Amino acid sequence: MSPVPETAVETFDSLDPANGQVLGTYPVHGPAEVAAAMDRAREAALWWRAQGWDGRRAHLSAWKGVLARRIHELADLVHRENGKPHEDAVLEIALAVEHVAWAAANARRVLGPRRVRAGLLVVDQAAWLEYQPYGVVGVLGPWNYPVLTPMGSIIYALAAGNAVVFKPSEYTPGVGAWLAHAWAMAVPERPEVFQVVTGRGETGATLTRAGVDKVAFTGSTATGRRVMAACAENLVPVLIECGGKDAMIVDDDADVVAAADAAVWGGMSNAGQTCIGIERVYATSAVYDRFVAAVTEQVARLRPGSDDEAAYGPMTMPSQTGVVQRHLDDALGAGGRVVTGGTVHGGYVAPTVLLDVPEDSAAVREETFGPTLTITEVPDAEEALRRVNASTMGLGGSVFSGSASRALDLARRMRSGMTSINSVLTFASVPALPFGGVGESGFGRIHGEDGLREFSRAKAITRRRFALPVDLMSFGRPATAADTVARVMGLVHGRHR
Ligand code: NDP
Repeated sequence: MSPVPETAVETFDSLDPANGQVLGTYPVHGPAEVAAAMDRAREAALWWRAQGWDGRRAHLSAWKGVLARRIHELADLVHRENGKPHEDAVLEIALAVEHVAWAAANARRVLGPRRVRAGLLVVDQAAWLEYQPYGVVGVLGPWNYPVLTPMGSIIYALAAGNAVVFKPSEYTPGVGAWLAHAWAMAVPERPEVFQVVTGRGETGATLTRAGVDKVAFTGSTATGRRVMAACAENLVPVLIECGGKDAMIVDDDADVVAAADAAVWGGMSNAGQTCIGIERVYATSAVYDRFVAAVTEQVARLRPGSDDEAAYGPMTMPSQTGVVQRHLDDALGAGGRVVTGGTVHGGYVAPTVLLDVPEDSAAVREETFGPTLTITEVPDAEEALRRVNASTMGLGGSVFSGSASRALDLARRMRSGMTSINSVLTFASVPALPFGGVGESGFGRIHGEDGLREFSRAKAITRRRFALPVDLMSFGRPATAADTVARVMGLVHGRHR
């Protein structure tokens, strides 16, 4: 399915996490195949850039059409490779389609040339700002949202005028290949504008050193550090979207049942394998007991499985169950209590709610990436915020409060890139809003205007419109010019104290 020729000898299998069945076999692309993909991408980038805003918009719209028309086919593949329920996969793809629509419609407005004021000292100049594509962007993506997450970079990089070479996770290569195949159907003149290379981490590492003009990495903080170090070798700019330990604050006057519903969805959908998933909840004493009861009642209805009625699927990556088990053991050893769940069978983790877990335990400090929630009682929302902000990570978060102004104040002071008030995860569904983290959750932004600019270089242009009587930027300026400038500065700016 990939336009990259299959010259690679070594292959790897993509497995269904529910039963270990082989879903597909893919080449491990090495340096030669990655270099070949880069050569084609470099040439295709020129063609893509030459299409202009209208041409790119039309091609992106055609791609959007393929994705929308074949949404169930792709959702089925996501279900089989990643394990999440088909319905959740449909929702994930629908969000990606909305992002294609927004990026295609807004790229010219956000990035196109515009006149800017030249300013007092250079009134002779006309000045323009525009945002130009980097050229070829290398995208490294994870498996947990194998469509929406890498597409957050791919869509915005393409809309900004770049060609893209994408290395999907070794757990979801089929989804990556499908996306490139859909592109080739929509843009048969130049499938090389968006190519996929497959393989394991080494293929990703090869791509970071293959001469790409920018790297967009989404994955774990540990790998993010390695990717950034590789990019530093050649000063390749890099966007880093890493994990989180996102928290919810439930304030005194919150709608407790709605907060519980959101916490359970935010923490346990997709088997908790959501970078912006809720992993910790801080509930004030006024609502704590009611909140725990509401969460427990709602969790009792959840059943993991691979069938259509299951709430969530198996862990996509078998080794992740070990991380979840370690966090559970650590929490219980430190005095934590299991209200419900706490068991790991095969690839499935039972929906788990933990109370009284100390703040220094792994289940509160490290990314668990499983269907678990810790709920901690705090005297008030200020103490909740202090604990939320004590994390080294800061991706998203949520505040539940009956007061709009109080919630907004807490949201603003939450140390994270994104916060939802009275809901969870919703910021990722608004194409106009930027997505990204702070601290060990990474830096740079996908989505929205910032996402388009992330994949562009700002270009400044000036043009002299007429000759001034005195040219300040000339050895021929008179000796009195500096005094005149100083007097003008005093008159214009010197009055402000
Ligand atoms: P990894 O860090 O293991 O891998 C991410 C991608 O990088 C994969 O394609 C991987 O390939 C590749 N890779 C691995 N090693 C290297 C290397 N040395 N150089 C270049 N590329 C490499 O993350 P996961 O796939 O396990 O994804 C889960 C993580 O992603 C979680 O921490 C989650 O929070 C985070 N995440 C963050 C999001 C955000 O937007 N901030 C969104 C979604 C997830 P391979 O899989 O083949 O090893």
